[in-house]
Amino acid sequence: MKGSPIRQDYLETAISWISNGKIEEYMGKHQHKPNANELWLYFQKVISWIKAVFPNYRKEMKGVDFGTLYNKFGDKEFDQKKIEKEITKLMLDEDVTKKSGIYPYVLTRNEKYLSIRSFTDNMKREAYERQKGNCPKCKEHFEIEEMEADHIKPWHEGGKTIAKNCQMLCKQDNRIKSGK
Ligand SMILES: [Zn+2]
Repeated sequence: MKGSPIRQDYLETAISWISNGKIEEYMGKHQHKPNANELWLYFQKVISWIKAVFPNYRKEMKGVDFGTLYNKFGDKEFDQKKIEKEITKLMLDEDVTKKSGIYPYVLTRNEKYLSIRSFTDNMKREAYERQKGNCPKCKEHFEIEEMEADHIKPWHEGGKTIAKNCQMLCKQDNRIKSGK
């Protein structure tokens, strides 16, 4: 980076990383500093961390908020071979519809990043008819609009988004099962 002009988008990315998204606040606090050395050192630390934890570059890495991940996980030990193996497996999983979300997922284990494929309206209807409109948990009868589709075997245990792994739960029981 030495000698090259500071690209505004790089700078903004680095600032948002260092200040966890609070760009204005950070600029206000640091506007009297003579140069941006602190920022570049931090930026380089984040880049080396990314290269160490995720040595296999994929284009999906571009949209990832690595700064926030570094702030949270930068001081933890990771087995990069194990992580790469898991990333490959998830890249091949067609139920993972947001591939860039694999990077935050392998660190945070939060499935929301993966946008796991949801059941189609047909799958929901088939499950509803199979159950005769009854919720398998509380055994009460509901209209289909009052129910939500659920993976019988959860995705993280290998359950796929396919018709036979779909069941309709009443909203309350679905909330209980998904722990929300
Ligand atoms: Zn129920």
